[in-house]
Amino acid sequence: MKQELEKIEKEALEAIRAVSDPTGVRTLNARYLGRKGIVTGLLRKVSGLPPEERPETGKLANKLKKRIEKALEKAVQVFEAGRDKAAEDALDVTLPGRPLAGGRMHPITQMTQAICNVFQRLGFEIVEGPDVESDYYNFEALNIPRDHPARDMQDTFYISENIVLRTHTSPIQVRVMESQPPPVRIIAPGKAYRVDSDISHTPMFHQVEGLMVQENVSFGDLKGILTTFVQQIFDEETSLRFRPSFFPFTEPSAEVDIRCVICRGAGCRVCSHTGWLEVLGAGMVHPAVFEMVGYDTERYSGFAFGMGIERIAMLKYGIEDIRKFYENDLRFLEQF
Ligand SMILES: [Zn+2]
Repeated sequence: MKQELEKIEKEALEAIRAVSDPTGVRTLNARYLGRKGIVTGLLRKVSGLPPEERPETGKLANKLKKRIEKALEKAVQVFEAGRDKAAEDALDVTLPGRPLAGGRMHPITQMTQAICNVFQRLGFEIVEGPDVESDYYNFEALNIPRDHPARDMQDTFYISENIVLRTHTSPIQVRVMESQPPPVRIIAPGKAYRVDSDISHTPMFHQVEGLMVQENVSFGDLKGILTTFVQQIFDEETSLRFRPSFFPFTEPSAEVDIRCVICRGAGCRVCSHTGWLEVLGAGMVHPAVFEMVGYDTERYSGFAFGMGIERIAMLKYGIEDIRKFYENDLRFLEQF
């Protein structure tokens, strides 16, 4: 019996030393100390021994039980300490915090703000108008006749016969002039809509409209303002060229080109080897427009201009496809 006890103890302690996880400890606990365990069985056996052997063997068996219990307890403690250590390693409070992924403004928003900032510094006030416009504000008040191609269903989104999605931001000019007498100095950013979609057109795009009306405003003032604007958005070296053009709501009208920002005028693919890039349309406000809003055409003169914000952003950042702005590809957007 004594030898049997020694053998059991040796095996048990070796097994406990070899155990590698808390599940192993629980298994050994059941094998030795459980209700049908080896040690429990031994103690039961002791009660069946002859009376003279019982006290000594009983004592030995109890001591064995205690030693196994202690060894198991110790094994549990080792695993718990290991788990605490692992938890400590997982949380190192001295590490620097993870940087938060910050959002940024869309390149079109950034460009709109940059354009508006230049004009605000020149004394222009920012105004806005509705995206859904009446035929009157979008066309008629701007001297766009009934047979003008812009009025074609193929170019304009019609909501109903007399309601359209504005095809340009110019109706804002009319709304402002109707609501106040001169002097007027406004810059009007906003969305515009046209039935058009390709590498340089999207059905929705952004424009900025500018208007200045007071006594003695000349084409020279227009050139000065636009030169300042272009040089602040691109750089001081950028030169401008005014080409005669036609718009129904300005007379005379001009299309404004800048010296190609990519080849500096030498000729490249972007400028179609002309050395110039068209950036905006402008002109002196047509007397017919002033008459529609009740301004005295003898006393006041003014200029207006409009530009596509996408176009300016594409030239500034060298973007070749306008649709990139609206694909919401973070790899593209994160560059701004
Ligand atoms: Zn070029």
